[in-house]
This record gives sequence, C-alpha cells and structure tokens, in this order.
Amino acid sequence: MASTGRSVSGSQPKRDKDPQKRKVYKLEGQFLMFNRGGTKLGDLRDCIRLACAMYDVPYPGVRSHKGGEWSYSDGVSISFNKAQMNYAVALHEAAHHIVDWLWDEEEGIEGHGREFQGVYQWLLVLCGIAPVAALQAAWEAQGLKWKPIPPRETPDP
Ligand SMILES: [Zn+2]
Repeated sequence: MASTGRSVSGSQPKRDKDPQKRKVYKLEGQFLMFNRGGTKLGDLRDCIRLACAMYDVPYPGVRSHKGGEWSYSDGVSISFNKAQMNYAVALHEAAHHIVDWLWDEEEGIEGHGREFQGVYQWLLVLCGIAPVAALQAAWEAQGLKWKPIPPRETPDP
C-alpha cells in the first residue's frame, strides 16, 4: 500500500502528553485514502469550512506548504503537506482545530485524546469517509478511546 510513512502530524508543544498519537498514526497508515495527495486546496477548504460550521468554531486559514513538514493545525491555521492533500487528513486537522477552540489548553486535553477522537469520528462519518460501525471497530481493535462529541448543529446540505 502506498504510504507517506505517517499520515498526519499536528504535533505542538502542548501535545507532549499524547499517548494515543502513535496508535492513531498507525491506524491511519493502513488506509490508502489517508496517505495520498491530489485533492484540490479549494475542495479541502470547503470540507474544513463545513466541519467548522458543524461545531460552530471559526474557520481557520487553510493553505499548503512545500517541504517535508507534515500537515498541521496550529490553532489559527491549517497547512497541508502537498502529499497529504486528501479529505481524511483535512478532517484530522479540522478535528484538532475544533478541539483547540472548544477546550482551553489548561484543561489538559491530549492532542489525540478522547475529545479529539470524538470529534474526528463524527467528522469522518458525517462527511462520508467511513461508516461509524467500521470506524469504531477499527479503533477498538487499535485500543483507541473516544468520547462522543456530536456537532452542535449540522448545516443544511
Ligand atoms: Zn494529529
């Protein structure tokens, strides 16, 4: 299976304590869709705009960057490694952005913890990337924990 080695990054200093990160990366590395580029930036922006609207958080600046740095969300913007321009990575980074807005840093939220997984799961399901039963089975097999974090509102299609 084609792979960029690791599907997504988004690591920041406050995410030092992040025991689920390696499990998330390992699981994402098994899905071809999470490990290829080719989706246009405008389409990824639309996807992220929809995700932010679902959770009623501000839309970030969204761009791509050159070089080997992995895709990331830094709280105000999302930037894509060009090899990772796909909807799955967009929703992963959108989930980081949403969690950063919904919880204060002082609350000790883990980078890829239960809250992140809860938002990410809803986004993957609502955007048609994966059915919930398959996602939850895969995450349970990987030992990932999550807390259901449903969207505050779902925009009209
Ligand atoms: Zn991440």
